[in-house]
Amino acid sequence: MVSWASGIAAGLFATLFPSDCRLCGAPLINISRLPVCEDCLGAMRPITGGLCSVCGERLVSPFAFSAGPYSAEACSTEARSTESGEARCGLCRRLAPPYVKASAYGSYESGLRELIHLLKYNQVRPAASVLGRMLAEAIEDLQPLFARSEVLVVPVPLHSRKMRQRGFNQSELIARAALKLKFAAVRFQLSAGLLERRRETKSQIGLSRHQRRENIRGAFVAAKPHEMAGREILLVDDVFTTGTTVSECARILRRAGASKVYVATVARTLKAEAQHAMRESETETRLTMAAAG
Ligand SMILES: [Zn+2]
Ligand SMILES: [Zn+2]
Repeated sequence: MVSWASGIAAGLFATLFPSDCRLCGAPLINISRLPVCEDCLGAMRPITGGLCSVCGERLVSPFAFSAGPYSAEACSTEARSTESGEARCGLCRRLAPPYVKASAYGSYESGLRELIHLLKYNQVRPAASVLGRMLAEAIEDLQPLFARSEVLVVPVPLHSRKMRQRGFNQSELIARAALKLKFAAVRFQLSAGLLERRRETKSQIGLSRHQRRENIRGAFVAAKPHEMAGREILLVDDVFTTGTTVSECARILRRAGASKVYVATVARTLKAEAQHAMRESETETRLTMAAAG
């Protein structure tokens, strides 16, 4: 990982003197504040295909969308929910998450993953506006579900020490960029102070689902419960990996009085992609599967 000072220097240099694309190395033709070429940006496509209607995980079963009479038996972990007619993954069927729905723009891999890293670890702030446009698409996907015309937007907070180190909360920057765009039916109000991160947490990599929950328990607190009583909240983060963080945040917000919580992220770890990584390296696999949880 690049140090704080050199990260800023590198980001500043690339902004002032664009030379090569920071992702593929191709020379940049247009002068842009973001040192990433059009080809790399164009390759960051939205997620397509069968997804869990609650958490957005990839449904791997070919029977997940089948309406046939034997579809439920054909796959023990995935099936259509009979009331809504929408597919849910095994985890969401066993235990409904504390949020209504999590929507992500793209898969957390290749270029999109690198672009998020440019923002987070190399302080290339102009990346936030591109990521914000992607987040806006994830928000668009949730819009029909909002019951009210006013929704509070809460970025997942950083611990104060990490905030000082990085100089910004990437989730808040991305949320701000997204909210600059026009939304037809809903008025969003950015409310960054409603949630606080009191405790720093260890990396979730390699932990079991139970260990991850234990690791994150007590890390977040609701700061102003009176402001969220009865309100709908859109929780925003850069990446949805295991869902442990957003689930814990949603649980805290609900307990503080929020009527409903929705989740929008720029990217999401997907099962199929995690399985692809498995073939490449066995050690990495265990970590990726744990992260994809
Ligand atoms: Zn490129
Ligand atoms: Zn699910």
